[in-house]
Amino acid sequence: PSQIQLLSATGLCKSFGGIRAVDNAEIHAAGGGITGLIGPNGAGKTTLFNLLSNFIRPDKGRVIFDGEPIQHLQPYQIASAGMVRTFQVARTLSRLSVLENMLLAAQKQTGENFWQVQFQQHKIAQEQKELKERAMFLLESVGLAHKAQDYAGGLSGGQRKLLEMGRALMTNPKLILLDEPAAGVNPRLIDDICDRIASWNKAGMTFLIIEHNMDVIMSLCDRVWVLAEGKNLADGTPQEIQNNSKVLEAYLGKS
Ligand code: ATP
Repeated sequence: PSQIQLLSATGLCKSFGGIRAVDNAEIHAAGGGITGLIGPNGAGKTTLFNLLSNFIRPDKGRVIFDGEPIQHLQPYQIASAGMVRTFQVARTLSRLSVLENMLLAAQKQTGENFWQVQFQQHKIAQEQKELKERAMFLLESVGLAHKAQDYAGGLSGGQRKLLEMGRALMTNPKLILLDEPAAGVNPRLIDDICDRIASWNKAGMTFLIIEHNMDVIMSLCDRVWVLAEGKNLADGTPQEIQNNSKVLEAYLGKS
């Protein structure tokens, strides 16, 4: 590939019992781009995300992020290195406020637990003030500033996805992995989420996105990777992928 890759994973393998969830797969994400990862249900997309971020250790394979191999790092170290992810089911802390969720996201990257962070808070009052300002700025950018003091548990599915993105942005990442940003989201909010992803991308953020909603993939991505039964099936521009007969077959065969 001619573009500079921010993330390059090759030869990734992961089996669960007898199931080869990810089978010698590769994926690359160019810096500054929006890369899509699609495939029928059970294709191994979420497992691949888990392998990239080391939430699950691969049986085999190599992941290079920002020029460095990262397989030996813990997930929080990978987050500190600049690769963060969101989850298919948003992992917001419902009994904390939206703002507290944001603040905790920034502190989490040290690998300390919540209580250690609480004990240190007196030391970092000034940092807290700056973090708070940053959190409010980012909440504005995800359209949740008016919810800052509300419990995260009261947010809608789509708002939780936006909060997860805000939390990801709090860590100052270089690459954000989004696991199905449009799933379970009110259709009216999907365009809003896409617009925000596009504008963060214009501001320089790189994304890798798993998504079943093809409109989202087609409108956002500059390159798309297709996984089927754990293996690479195709990759190319959204147009190339849309017209690829192997891809159409894989989807039709599953539906
Ligand atoms: P979807 O689009 O439905 O979310 P996916 O492409 O993300 O699917 P994965 O969730 O990665 O697919 O699953 C790939 C395969 O691995 C599936 O057959 C799944 O049942 C299996 N699998 C995933 N995680 C585990 C696990 N922890 N234990 C056992 N099997 C698993």
